[in-house]
Amino acid sequence: DYDVAFEGGRYREITELNATLSYAAQELKKVDSLQKELISNISHDLRTPLTMITGYSEVMRDLPGEMTPENIQIIIDEANRLNSLVTDLLDISRLQSGTADIKQTPFSLTNCIKSIFSRYTKLIESDGLNIIFEHDGEVFIMGDELRMTQVLYNLINNAINYIGDDKTVIVRQTVKDDRVRVDVIDHGEGIPKDKLDYIWDRYYRVDKEHRRAKVGTGLGLSIVKNILLAHDADFGVASKVGEGSDFYFILPVIPTDDE
Ligand code: ADP
Repeated sequence: DYDVAFEGGRYREITELNATLSYAAQELKKVDSLQKELISNISHDLRTPLTMITGYSEVMRDLPGEMTPENIQIIIDEANRLNSLVTDLLDISRLQSGTADIKQTPFSLTNCIKSIFSRYTKLIESDGLNIIFEHDGEVFIMGDELRMTQVLYNLINNAINYIGDDKTVIVRQTVKDDRVRVDVIDHGEGIPKDKLDYIWDRYYRVDKEHRRAKVGTGLGLSIVKNILLAHDADFGVASKVGEGSDFYFILPVIPTDDE
């Protein structure tokens, strides 16, 4: 009796182990195929501008009449695109491996937002962009000002890229219980519910068919996520298709003297 029970137990153990192993193998396969997809995406996006640069250079070498400022500008634009792509990729790998240098110094989050707004003066004038900063006073936080500027810049840029007919982006800074919350809100196309979990992933773009229709690398939110994680921030997004998106993060404020 004892022997049989023992064998039975062992058999069960082995079956369970077997199931665990095959599950692990499946997961590894998934990671492997994601990695392959990632590499193929990166290669594609690196190759596209390179092809343009080579193509235009060859045309201008062979046909001097084609050496126009417009054609040269295309080469410069594509080289810049290549440059920001490589910078983004390096950034993400540094942030993910924890080798990025994240400073912890006090700075004015409010001024940081205001200075980003000044970059859009031209768009406001030429495109009728309406970009609003709502806040009730200056707030200081602890962190890396350059990195947080990058976060805000990426979120605001996305809001502008996916802007609605009202051409309006709202940045709202609210303080509650020693924490500051920043919302970046647009009334644009929104993001489908089943895609919300993926948009923070490196290289993920909702509209794959139009990968190059809108400027963007699919890396912006991954950088945002990694920087916010390094700051221990709470963050997220609320979005509804056809209504727009609200990307937010929450961080502790540095109490001011008069509090
Ligand atoms: P990129 O904007 O370069 O494509 P991101 O990582 O910044 O890459 O964003 C990933 C994807 O998330 C975008 O391609 C887009 O599909 C979606 N997304 C991001 N921000 C918004 C937004 N404000 N409104 C609608 N979709 C958005």
